[in-house]
Amino acid sequence: MSEIVTRIAPSPTGYMHIGTARTALFNWLYARGRGGKFLLRIEDTDEARSTPEATEAIFQGMRWLGLDFDDEPVHQADRAERHAEIANDLLRKGQAYKCFATQEEIAAFRETARAKGCSTLFRSPWRNVNENDHPDAPYVVRIKAPQSGQTVIQDQVQGDITIRNDQLDDMVLLRSDGTPVYMLAVVVDDFDMRVTHVIRGDDHLNNAARQMLIYTAMGWPVPVYAHVPLIFDKDGRKLSKRRGATSVEDYQKMGYPASGMRNYLARLGWSHGDAEFFNDEEAKNWFDLKGIGKSPARFDLKKLENLCGQHITATDDAALLHDLLEFFAISKLPHKQKDLETKLAPALYCVKDRAKNFLELIDKARFCLINRPIFTDEKSAKYLNERAISMFKTLTPQLQNASWTREELESICETIAETYETNFGKLAGPLRAALAGRSVTPSVFDMMLVLGKEETIARLLDAKCRAAT
Ligand code: GLU
Repeated sequence: MSEIVTRIAPSPTGYMHIGTARTALFNWLYARGRGGKFLLRIEDTDEARSTPEATEAIFQGMRWLGLDFDDEPVHQADRAERHAEIANDLLRKGQAYKCFATQEEIAAFRETARAKGCSTLFRSPWRNVNENDHPDAPYVVRIKAPQSGQTVIQDQVQGDITIRNDQLDDMVLLRSDGTPVYMLAVVVDDFDMRVTHVIRGDDHLNNAARQMLIYTAMGWPVPVYAHVPLIFDKDGRKLSKRRGATSVEDYQKMGYPASGMRNYLARLGWSHGDAEFFNDEEAKNWFDLKGIGKSPARFDLKKLENLCGQHITATDDAALLHDLLEFFAISKLPHKQKDLETKLAPALYCVKDRAKNFLELIDKARFCLINRPIFTDEKSAKYLNERAISMFKTLTPQLQNASWTREELESICETIAETYETNFGKLAGPLRAALAGRSVTPSVFDMMLVLGKEETIARLLDAKCRAAT
């Protein structure tokens, strides 16, 4: 079998839509799982929208999601000459013709058809006119579409879709200024890029029938089509910017890890038995077109968060630190790179459990990032009463001599609690207040181990002074 080639062909819109990301992921998984190629084509023929920033947003989205592509990205706008060449080929082959009908004539045709109750599909009077009888006037190039029979799209998701050819018009391939239309550009590019599988949103299903006409007229093999239902929001409506985040960048800024995002997007419209949580290798091995559902998937933030939480927990500390450094940079959170490497890194093991996103994780790790003297919030300040300070007084000299293992720290605290005829719970509140300034924190012993002896004792002494004032 020949090599599998898939592609993502986004039109720059200023941001990368989550639906585009999902389509990119499906194509990436399909190719990568089969030793094939995954290509990127920027469909930048709309000059007004295709700014360098809009194109960059796509690159950035792909980069963040880790969807690496092969070869150089193709810019559709650069290939207009090649698109026109194919239209002219079709003209020469008699598979296309020059149409001199003016806008007024087309409008009049439609008007009459409407009045008669017939189809308003334009039927050009120039379809069979001999070259010698052509006027010296502007013209468009139209494809000579078959007028009987049917076109069948053998779609891997939707099944066979049959379209009567008398419902397809002789679409324009080249405009009167010689510029190619989008539909032609897509087919020529896919052919030249040797794309074997077109996996894309089902909003392109109608285009597929018309694109097939071009393949057939050129005698080119039609790629395998898989049109994936669009993503809906939780209320069953098309995802819309007004009702929630729709861009990849939004999710990146909310602190979701790319690995969790990939896992969630893969599950959005595709399934493999009842597997929910999986890694890239599993996804590449499992992904197939059969597993794509026929009905629109619903975007469910809770599910995304759940999977992201599991991915954060499963990521090893070095990789997690790398992702966090990137997150700090893109979200412009104030930080010192060195602090993150020296202070955050040793804390990761105790803060990565149950954080649904990086913002939550960073919040849990706040205790190790803040500098003395730390601010104590109102709720935790209440723990720093006289009794607590007295316990600290007994505790600090013992900590001073401790070898700083979890066992030893636990045993010292237990003994202090016993001395004060209380349980460790009563000591934990004041310790949280002193070490983190909060009442909800990672475990007291984890904080002590992460902060180290000197810093722990300094914070306990600070608390003593604070309580005294
Ligand atoms: N440029 C189209 C889009 O962004 C995709 C075209 C295609 O996949 O054939 O929706």
